[in-house]
Amino acid sequence: MSAFPEERALVEVRGVNKYFGQHHVLKDIDLDVQKGEVVIVIGPSGSGKSTLCRSINRLETIDSGEICIDGNLLPEEGRQLAQLRSEVGMVFQAFNLFAHKTVLENVTLAPIKVHKQSKADAEKRAMDLLKRVGVAEHAQKLPAQLSGGQQQRVAIARSLAMDPKVILLDEPTSALDPEMINEVLDVMIELARSGMTMLVVTHEMGFARKAADRVVFMADGAIVEQATPETFFSNPTSDRAKDFLSKIL
Ligand code: ADP
Ligand code: MG
Repeated sequence: MSAFPEERALVEVRGVNKYFGQHHVLKDIDLDVQKGEVVIVIGPSGSGKSTLCRSINRLETIDSGEICIDGNLLPEEGRQLAQLRSEVGMVFQAFNLFAHKTVLENVTLAPIKVHKQSKADAEKRAMDLLKRVGVAEHAQKLPAQLSGGQQQRVAIARSLAMDPKVILLDEPTSALDPEMINEVLDVMIELARSGMTMLVVTHEMGFARKAADRVVFMADGAIVEQATPETFFSNPTSDRAKDFLSKIL
């Protein structure tokens, strides 16, 4: 650990273990994400990628180890947890928008409720964010009136509206029709270039090459190797990673 607090990683995962019953799904996970860093997590289905994301957002409890966000240990529950969770944005595979609220309401709800912003301020900021992700003209529609790609961009805007310190995206394009994947990846690339700290689970290797500072490869609940995208894709060292890449590239 650094002697200088400001040099600590924004996300610190230390010796984390997690079981579902007898099943050891996270095995001694150590992972740092530095401020402004874009870390891509890849690996076979069932390797624990989603559980890791959910643990960082405290949607799952862990059995041992520690997770710190900006130097603060993830609390068990209560107001502190709500505060920390608002610092960690999360975008899921299924967009999880509120179906009976308009796009604009989806984006303003949490800032008004949790951050006590005025409706006018929240709406102004929401419109800026909806513009940024290219869906401002749909602000008054319900989610079902939008395409999957547009809904996922709204979900990203909603997450950004809370001014998170880090944003976790768990396979954000996996549920999309192929023609909509790029519009969401483009938003993510713009976000990455803007300096946002991001942890992204994805099978989109083109995106990983473009946006990642570091690729983390997981298999069977463990981090098997990590490297820059250039090194990882051209010269993976573990058999598991070689095997995985041979199947998807
Ligand atoms: P990935 O996202 O890499 O596909 P997951 O984190 O979803 O992997 O799952 C890791 C392992 O944990 C899998 O074997 C999965 O079946 C199991 N698992 C995930 N969630 C639960 C749960 N709520 N209860 C029991 N087992 C679970
Ligand atoms: Mg998953």
